[in-house]
Amino acid sequence: MNSLATDPSGINPLLTMPRPIQALPDQLISQIAAGEVIERPSAVVKELLENALDAGATQINVRLEQGGVKRIAIVDNGRGIPPDQMPLALARHATSKIATLNDLESVLTLGFRGEALASIASVAQLTLTSRTAEEAHAWEMSGASASIAPIPASGAQGTTVDVSDLYFNTPARRKFLKTEQTEFGHCAEVVRRIALARPDVSFSLSHNGKTVDHWNVADIAKRSSHILGNEFSAARLYVEEAAGPLRLSGFVGLPTASRVRADCQYFYVNGRFVRDKLLTHAVRAAYQDVLHGDRYPSYVIRLDLDPTLVDVNVHPSKIEVRFRDSRGVHQFVFHAVSRALAQTSATAHGAAPAPVPANPGALPWMRTPQQATFASQFAPSTGSAHGVAQDLASYGALFSGMRADPAESGNLYRDANARTGGTTPWIATGAEQDEHPLGFALAQLHGIFVLAQNTRGLVLVDMHAAHERILYEEFKGALDADAVQVQPLLIPVTFHADPIETGTVEEHPEVLRSLGFDITVLSPTTLAVRAVPALLKNADAQNLARDVLRDVREFGGSRVLLERRNEMLGTLACHTAVRANRNLTIPEMNALLRQMEMTERADQCNHGRPTWVQLALTDLDRLFLRGQ
Ligand code: ADP
Ligand code: MG
Repeated sequence: MNSLATDPSGINPLLTMPRPIQALPDQLISQIAAGEVIERPSAVVKELLENALDAGATQINVRLEQGGVKRIAIVDNGRGIPPDQMPLALARHATSKIATLNDLESVLTLGFRGEALASIASVAQLTLTSRTAEEAHAWEMSGASASIAPIPASGAQGTTVDVSDLYFNTPARRKFLKTEQTEFGHCAEVVRRIALARPDVSFSLSHNGKTVDHWNVADIAKRSSHILGNEFSAARLYVEEAAGPLRLSGFVGLPTASRVRADCQYFYVNGRFVRDKLLTHAVRAAYQDVLHGDRYPSYVIRLDLDPTLVDVNVHPSKIEVRFRDSRGVHQFVFHAVSRALAQTSATAHGAAPAPVPANPGALPWMRTPQQATFASQFAPSTGSAHGVAQDLASYGALFSGMRADPAESGNLYRDANARTGGTTPWIATGAEQDEHPLGFALAQLHGIFVLAQNTRGLVLVDMHAAHERILYEEFKGALDADAVQVQPLLIPVTFHADPIETGTVEEHPEVLRSLGFDITVLSPTTLAVRAVPALLKNADAQNLARDVLRDVREFGGSRVLLERRNEMLGTLACHTAVRANRNLTIPEMNALLRQMEMTERADQCNHGRPTWVQLALTDLDRLFLRGQ
């Protein structure tokens, strides 16, 4: 029996509206597409900015009125559109960016679907004005006149797209819009995202006739300072790593730059802003040791890889991506960010909190996707699935069981130094090169702080926090060194599993073993847990196995395991660490300083608070207004 006929409302929509199947008119198709691609003014801004960048613009001005609903006008100085192609630019599924499936798989432009201008023109008044270098003047046409040839107009080289009265003909959509200020906020965020990806382009943004932002051409260090503000630039670390086909660069904020909301997280894949679960998770996991769970890290990170290894065509607005080797990418991002954060250990702690290479212009950040050299940096991708898997596997081997090797620590600093000829101003000299960068203890203050003197001035240490961090890392190091202790179960725990779970067991036996699990497939629907990590022997084996299998499948490692272990370590360390109000002797205090120097991340305790601060002589001078 047809369920529609028994619908309790008694209305069968198929019966009240009997209609033959028919092809939809173009305009309606575009309006349907518009629902996905341009759900609000900020999405129009995004599409138009991406077009300007794809056209090689170096200067882009964005003018908004009434949150973009009344008007969005974007002027670029890019290569323009020849007049005979202007009607096509406005047509649906017409693009200059790809022509074949092959092109789609290796696309480096931001756009390629050929539907943005058509979609926008279907729900707003759109005027396109453009001039190429060859034309003596600009040409203009409106979205409504797509079938009529453009008419002469005035204007410099480049393109202006002027969109007004957004959703004038789709009132239902209009109702979903928020207040003018909110819509403007979304638009401004889109401009920020894109401006962060392209510091080599100047941007300006105005709203209701007032200039809101203006960023000149800069490097990523400056651009990110301008956009994210001092709080971020005063507490960030430069990160740059490459492995096989993957390259990551950018800035990660120290815990002191963390936020109560995830509003300062900028991740780019091949120059495209993405909000991707896998990547967000990888970064989050890297912060796990230094950041309390209710804080969100701040970062601006760019991941570059051969475009054939990532599918950007999985989401209409391309905000999510799919990697061919998601596990390899997760591990790479996780390790790169973890290593950068581990650099905050006492020995590498320089005077300047924002280690920025002197010459970021040479950094991969500035390599725009359009540059022809880009693709050639990567090995040709012919039959690359295997080759890449191998690259990533050898990469994984490089890091498996990696603990901070003290010789590794400071690598970024050294590399950057070499790259810029050793003149990088943020490389601290003198104090940092002594054997004892944290200096020697002078006294204890109220049983809470240790005061020490080093060549730069005064060092203040939070005793309890520092000791907690040392213990935590010690516990962790001991665990890692033994690999994971395994606890065989006297009676194996069997449980009913779904095909994905049994598949994971069959596919990743070595990962599970390295995590301390012995799980076997008894039948296509039954799994048996024969051993668990000794640390977690009291946990419910079935639930634990399920969580671990899910993690192994999704991330190639076990978040659950790490989280539980670190929680436990944190508690253990906290209970064993020196309590405040305990009097330490000078030799004890010096021993603490020496241990801190040897301990990774000694300047952040495991709740994300700093464990020590440096007050340089110049800071002290300033306190007394000396030299002013
Ligand atoms: P897509 O960007 O996916 O190709 P669009 O509908 O956004 O689709 O744009 C259609 C075509 O119009 C583009 O392929 C490009 O050739 C041209 N175009 C759009 N905007 C610009 C611009 N600002 N400068 C130069 N060409 C443009
Ligand atoms: Mg486009």
